[in-house]
Amino acid sequence: MPTDPTPPGLPQGRPAADVLAELRSLRGADAPTRGGRTFAYVYDAGLDGLDELAAAAYTAYATVNGLDMTVFPSVARLENDLVGAAAALLGGGPDVQGSFTSGGTESILLAVKTARDQARSERGVTEPQLLLPSTAHAAFHKAAAYLGMEPVVVPVDPVTYRADAAATAAAITPRTALVVASAPSYAHGVIDPVAEIAAAAADRGVLCHVDACIGGWILPYLRRAGRDIPPFDLSVPGVTSLSVDLHKYGYADKGASVVLYRDAGLRRHQYFAHAGWPGYPVVNPTVQGTKSAGLLAQAWAVLRHVGEDGYTGLAARVAEATDRLLAGLRKTDDVHVLGDPSAGLVAFTVHTSGVPDLSLLLHLADEMRERGWYLQPQLSFDGLPPNLHLTLTPATVGQVDALLTDLTGALSAARALPPVTVDPGLAELAAGLDPSALGPEEVAAVLAFAGLGGDAGLPARTAPVLVLLDALPGPLKERLLTEFVGSIFRI
Ligand SMILES: *Cc1c(COP(=O)(O)O)cnc(C)c1O
Repeated sequence: MPTDPTPPGLPQGRPAADVLAELRSLRGADAPTRGGRTFAYVYDAGLDGLDELAAAAYTAYATVNGLDMTVFPSVARLENDLVGAAAALLGGGPDVQGSFTSGGTESILLAVKTARDQARSERGVTEPQLLLPSTAHAAFHKAAAYLGMEPVVVPVDPVTYRADAAATAAAITPRTALVVASAPSYAHGVIDPVAEIAAAAADRGVLCHVDACIGGWILPYLRRAGRDIPPFDLSVPGVTSLSVDLHKYGYADKGASVVLYRDAGLRRHQYFAHAGWPGYPVVNPTVQGTKSAGLLAQAWAVLRHVGEDGYTGLAARVAEATDRLLAGLRKTDDVHVLGDPSAGLVAFTVHTSGVPDLSLLLHLADEMRERGWYLQPQLSFDGLPPNLHLTLTPATVGQVDALLTDLTGALSAARALPPVTVDPGLAELAAGLDPSALGPEEVAAVLAFAGLGGDAGLPARTAPVLVLLDALPGPLKERLLTEFVGSIFRI
């Protein structure tokens, strides 16, 4: 078929109802975001009317521009309410300040920029390092890449998957701008030894960020619900900043997070101001310029509606779902839960003859997907086993028993399938490739080999692709995946 050299433009205008109907039908192939069968990416409080409230609050503020709070003063009021609530929940003292951002990645980017600029201006550090446990979220590596910093990665304890406080302390140098701990880590759901890491940072006069993106809005409520949660927040001596996502266990719609700092003097390094152009004087606290106040308003409405009592009850439901899941997983032959996960996040691997079996694990994920469940595959890394990750929400409480039943069936089905293997010759060849020197055709050839080529879209079963990816060195993996995603976003 001859291809049209002109990209498709806009069609003629159509009635609103038709356009909305088209949007709804486009969602047909997506994973469900409600109902508790998608165990990553989505957070379902299971509360009637919450989605409608968020949508109505968004609509009320959709046309307001958060760029200028002097023209739209209610934007500052809403943001101060949210930041104040986060500070009160997360151990902020009287001097704590913060910002509302578009998500965890932006909160982290800003905290890292703040630390870089603080180290530069107050400590004279010209080549700043970012000190991370190996389980720190990828967003920190993104921040280091964007901001020209050197990430220094410290392996975590291979048994508990928690950051190694002593090794972290030993890795602090005069160039360290920021030390990071997670509460909990996304990958395994375990809480790092925040107090020890923050104390070591403080001893050396270095800032310490707690990534509570996923835990910040649930750990304090789990504590209120009677769970034993170690100190992890701004009340811990030495912790100087913290990120918490409202679009995770705050159950706000996506595009809602808060970054907190011990005081306004530190937060000042986050702000960007520019008066050297003929336009309006610019002060951007966060990354975006023009920004919808709708996201702020929906988060504000959701938090106020659910309230302290509501979040405590929701946290208890997440804990109940997690307990039931963990009990079931621990009773299932060859299933091994990684570490001691705090409520809400669970990662497990599967063994054959006592060792992690990647092929079986990925077959299991595919089998579960065929049964209508999404569990998130995570590949092996630096001696840590590949695993399936589950994020539990209140809506999953009623699904856990069905999930465990299907898991047993899916595991038998996965065992009956031929193992997926990687040709050792190919793995060796791939390991010798220089990803930065690969041209588009070579990358396309490798992708085609992996089953990700051409216009075929995503393969129904992901095990063959992921087994190959797992065997490749990180930089090559990154190069291939970049090309692959670029091939999806292609007009
Ligand atoms: C989700 C998450 C992030 C990144 O946040 P986004 O909202 O996806 O940008 C960072 N750290 C942890 C621990 C997270 O769970």
